[in-house]
Amino acid sequence: MPAFQEYFDPSHQMVRDSVRRFVEREVLPDIDAWEEAESFPRELYLKAGAAGILGIGYPEALGGSHEGDLFAKVAASEELMRCGSGGLVAGLGSLDIGLPPIVKWARPEVRDRVVPQVLSGHKISALAVTEPGGGSDVANLQTRAVRDGDFYRVSGSKTFITSGVRADFYTVAVRTGAPGFGGISLLLIEKGTPGFTVGRQLKKMGWWASDTAELFFDDCRVPVGNLIGAENMGFACIMGNFQSERLALALMANMTAQLALEESLKWAREREAFGKPIGKFQVIKHRLAEMATALEVSREFTYRQAAKMAAGQSVIKEISMAKNFATDTSDRITTEAVQILGGLGYMRESLVERLYRDNRILSIGGGTREVMNEIIAKQMGL
Ligand SMILES: Cc1cc2nc3c(=O)[nH]c(=O)nc-3n(C[C@H](O)[C@H](O)[C@H](O)COP(=O)(O)OP(=O)(O)OC[C@H]3O[C@@H](n4cnc5c(N)ncnc54)[C@H](O)[C@@H]3O)c2cc1C
Repeated sequence: MPAFQEYFDPSHQMVRDSVRRFVEREVLPDIDAWEEAESFPRELYLKAGAAGILGIGYPEALGGSHEGDLFAKVAASEELMRCGSGGLVAGLGSLDIGLPPIVKWARPEVRDRVVPQVLSGHKISALAVTEPGGGSDVANLQTRAVRDGDFYRVSGSKTFITSGVRADFYTVAVRTGAPGFGGISLLLIEKGTPGFTVGRQLKKMGWWASDTAELFFDDCRVPVGNLIGAENMGFACIMGNFQSERLALALMANMTAQLALEESLKWAREREAFGKPIGKFQVIKHRLAEMATALEVSREFTYRQAAKMAAGQSVIKEISMAKNFATDTSDRITTEAVQILGGLGYMRESLVERLYRDNRILSIGGGTREVMNEIIAKQMGL
């Protein structure tokens, strides 16, 4: 990949090299088997923790490194995606949506107990916002938390939660107040709390290596000290968290497209039809040129928004645009890649088959394409 020196410095290259070595050593040899098994060993969290990968972007005092260095995170995310399994990256990376609210808004004693255990890979963090009744309309969520002395009594359910089966710490969006966005709070709910049960691992189109589950709360007693941020201020915390999740999903889409393009180029040079490599047919050559063009534009726009975020600018509109542009691009490039590989592109033995399936979630998770367009339109004053 090109160097993009405008965004990345030598320290980011070191992060990139170290994550790439980790992926080559610890993930690539087994990833096909883990995908088929729809799981990867829990030990991988410990290995990624020990290699310092899980801690990138978090405060040193909590066991992290490169705090505030967004492009270190970008470099690490891109290299992790080189394993070719969005599911593994989503599963290993569920801490990046579960932990930030805890780092920023939990009580110090909760934060100091929870965060280091997750960054070292000993415990797993998940974020639970979506409910069976709907995910897009966050302000309308129904899981109730009623104050009872030093506890909240939580009742309701969540669904489609990444790392839902094996997480230890769940950052859960609940309703503590009136209907609408002003009645929502975030609570840390721990595995093993009476009244909290986890459903089966859901079967999915893609992201096979990640576990995705339903969560059930039946009069679950959660200590008041586990409140994250102020009561009824959870909506703003959730929306803030979405900004970095949307950047991460745009980066995933760009890397999915990058891998699909690389596989297509390789095949276009190797595969012969009618006496010449298929890459010599103008229709294929132009398709590859257009795929590369769309990807470069998408990547550049995504990096630009990351740079603005790193500089502290508000990019609510632009990050939604980046997510939509990147996922439109990866939709197109993964579809074209399957076409260029022909029958092989449909076979489980080819990487593009997995990229095509894994890609489909990227314009749904973290806010759908339609929800992104709603945000963009609102920011345009519509
Ligand atoms: C593999 C996977 C992993 C996930 N991981 C997590 C996780 O870790 N934590 C978590 O909380 N959630 C997670 N989700 C849930 C995900 O965020 C939701 O699926 C997503 O937000 C959409 O919600 P929904 O599925 O309920 O669809 P709905 O909200 O029911 O939407 C259905 C359709 O209606 C459209 N729609 C809704 N509102 C509007 C509107 N105003 N205008 C136009 N169209 C609209 C949507 O765009 C969509 O096309 C995950 C989902 C999947 C599939």
